[in-house]
Amino acid sequence: MKITAIEALRYSPPEPAGAHPAPSRPSWQGRQDVSHPLARYRGRRVDFNSLMPWGDLWVRVRAENGTSGLGATQFAGPVAALVRDHLGPALVGEDCRATDRLADLMFRLTKPYGSAGIASCAVSAIDLALWDLRGRIAGEPVYRLLGGAPRRVPCYATTNDVDWAMELGFEAFKVTLGYGPEAGSEGLDRNEAFIAECRETIGDEPDLYIDCWMSLDVDYAVRLAERLYPYQPGWLEECLLPEDLDGHVALRRRLPAQTLATGEHWYSPFPFQWAAARRVVDVLQPDIQWCGGLSAVARIAAIADSAGLAVMPHLAGTTAFGQHASAGISTIHRAEYRIGSAPGVPLERVPQAPGAVLPVNGEIGASDAPGFGIEIPEAQLSPY
Ligand SMILES: [Mg+2]
Repeated sequence: MKITAIEALRYSPPEPAGAHPAPSRPSWQGRQDVSHPLARYRGRRVDFNSLMPWGDLWVRVRAENGTSGLGATQFAGPVAALVRDHLGPALVGEDCRATDRLADLMFRLTKPYGSAGIASCAVSAIDLALWDLRGRIAGEPVYRLLGGAPRRVPCYATTNDVDWAMELGFEAFKVTLGYGPEAGSEGLDRNEAFIAECRETIGDEPDLYIDCWMSLDVDYAVRLAERLYPYQPGWLEECLLPEDLDGHVALRRRLPAQTLATGEHWYSPFPFQWAAARRVVDVLQPDIQWCGGLSAVARIAAIADSAGLAVMPHLAGTTAFGQHASAGISTIHRAEYRIGSAPGVPLERVPQAPGAVLPVNGEIGASDAPGFGIEIPEAQLSPY
């Protein structure tokens, strides 16, 4: 079944209708300091999204029998150019069901300009659209194509409003660190106070993970881990810049017992294989919309399993893509569900990613419709 066209699309969802219940307070987002890698130049409150002029990019792959599949990624502007001008035309005429072959072909096509970052996002969106198309042709949900069965995967909630996440039924939590090395010892004190408060709120038993979003250095990460030891962080996430490979080795050496997680800014299976071979992290966190799509996540999950490591893809509970990966890959034992909406507003009233099902009692499933189960009215899609 040949590919006839690959399109780069803009998705314009309608404004949510009806009155929202009043939030009990504003969301943590924008209200709290977040540690990030630009803090030394732009201060703590910088909103990374406001520094980037692009939104999401959707990709549609059309097959010769009239069927089509949808995938999506972020950073639309430059990714759209790669989809439209290079990867898309290169795949026209190929068999759309050959997801593994096409994933490798696309990876190799990006070699002259580099396969990480933006290029990997373009590959991811096309790969996801191909999996969606395979599912639609077969009349099966993607998790079935992966060899999975319907199942509910426990989620941890990513939010600094942990009391609200508890009310919603979650039993594990990830919070965002407020301050990095540039905030000095006062920042360290504030970090400790915040984590102590979160631990107090959720109690002794539940897992509490801490996301450092590429903002620390090795020495600060070690001092942070020592300060936070009494609060038993389940893991420290993305302490270092993803390219700082020596730093990852050094951090593991200096924190042998602390569970470490990373990977949302690693692209293709190669960095994950590097990390697994050296055991520099315990939890691999590929992002399905950035790392090369579902084909790459499946390979990374196999790497993790063979090394005795955990794989918990970034935001896997939040999108239809991640939900199908979680239901379909049996070694994914926990998914991330991100809550950016304000406390007091039920999740049913918060716009969700297309095709995504809502968590119930802190667990996520996946849609049973063919492909990823994403239905977007044609009028809401336009050429990017
Ligand atoms: Mg993270």
